Amino acid sequence: MRPQAPIALQAAPAPPDALGRTLADLRISVIDRCNFRCPYCMPEETYPADHAFLRARERLDFDEIERIARVFVALGVRKLRLTGGEPLLRRDLPQLVARLAAIEGVEDLALTTNGVLLQKFATPLRDAGLQRLTVSMDSADPEIFRGMSGGRGDLAQVEAGITAAEQAGFAPIKINCVVMRGVNDGGVLDLVARFRGTGHVVRFIEYMDVGTVNGWRSDRVVPGAELAARIDACWPLEALPRNAGSTSRRWRFRDGSGEVGFINSVTEPFCGGCTRARLAADGKLYTCLFARAGHDLRALLRAGESDAALRATVAGIWSHRGDRYSERRAELRAAGVLEHVEMYRIGG
Ligand code: SAM
Ligand code: SF4
Ligand code: SF4
Repeated sequence: MRPQAPIALQAAPAPPDALGRTLADLRISVIDRCNFRCPYCMPEETYPADHAFLRARERLDFDEIERIARVFVALGVRKLRLTGGEPLLRRDLPQLVARLAAIEGVEDLALTTNGVLLQKFATPLRDAGLQRLTVSMDSADPEIFRGMSGGRGDLAQVEAGITAAEQAGFAPIKINCVVMRGVNDGGVLDLVARFRGTGHVVRFIEYMDVGTVNGWRSDRVVPGAELAARIDACWPLEALPRNAGSTSRRWRFRDGSGEVGFINSVTEPFCGGCTRARLAADGKLYTCLFARAGHDLRALLRAGESDAALRATVAGIWSHRGDRYSERRAELRAAGVLEHVEMYRIGG
């Protein structure tokens, strides 16, 4: 059935959501495929072997992504981040970056990648206007790194990708590390040592119960505060103020060798400041990382809706948003609310 056309709105910031949070940033997943099988995201063992990834025509094309991005920018979004699956698997990604970089009102354009293909793409991405880069790296030890990628990742390739990104002019680069107790937490200090003094910022992310296939257990979560204490014992730290709109708790090394960050989404939820919408590669819009269902913007686009109608729809979805899963995790899990969109579909 064709969705009802909403009343057109003038371009103006979206109204705040039901909890008073503004709409300020959009994550755009450009592909659901990945060349890794990280155990916390799409583990090889539990990941359904017959899973059907999106076919090309099911994904938003670049015209559609640009159009939706413009709708969000008209509604007040200033930060865009491209993600996946693995975004560098999407053909011609630098062309999309150039189109998004040209949108008036976009103040920050970033990308999260596992880094494997960065050697090839760092310079074209930079030339296209990409401003910031986050590279996921769960260990500085090649064997543990390989394990954390589901047996597929070669640390040397990611290191070469980071070097290529430095040469292309990305600075500082953020390095994301998901920490799982008993799996890679023993290597936290080595990862800090690898990046201390380089200007790049390692951010430790608490292992989250995203999706349905990662077999999450709370005893595998290492609280960020515990990691900060371990690091502080080695290299004394002092707290820095949070960046506006950032989810990361920041600390600097007292000896001036840079900073580290902690995304403590399990032990210190930050739903109260969550201003982020997420667009999956198939055009579904999610208002929370833990949402069960998305809103089908692709259907609206392909039904020929006007920009004004799209803006009105998105503003309406945002204004009804009441998500705060991480603050209610214990209660919702106890009530059996375990069905969430998969992380590789919406990209973190
Ligand atoms: N493939 C790219 C990458 O890994 O950088 C981009 C997509 S990935 C889904 C985005 C981020 O989500 C990565 O930094 C990844 O480590 C993080 N992530 C995935 N599953 C997670 C989980 N269960 N808990 C915490 N972070 C997770
Ligand atoms: Fe792929 Fe990124 Fe998920 Fe790892 S975290 S499986 S690299 S999408
Ligand atoms: Fe935002 Fe949902 Fe995460 Fe809370 S749980 S911070 S609402 S994405």
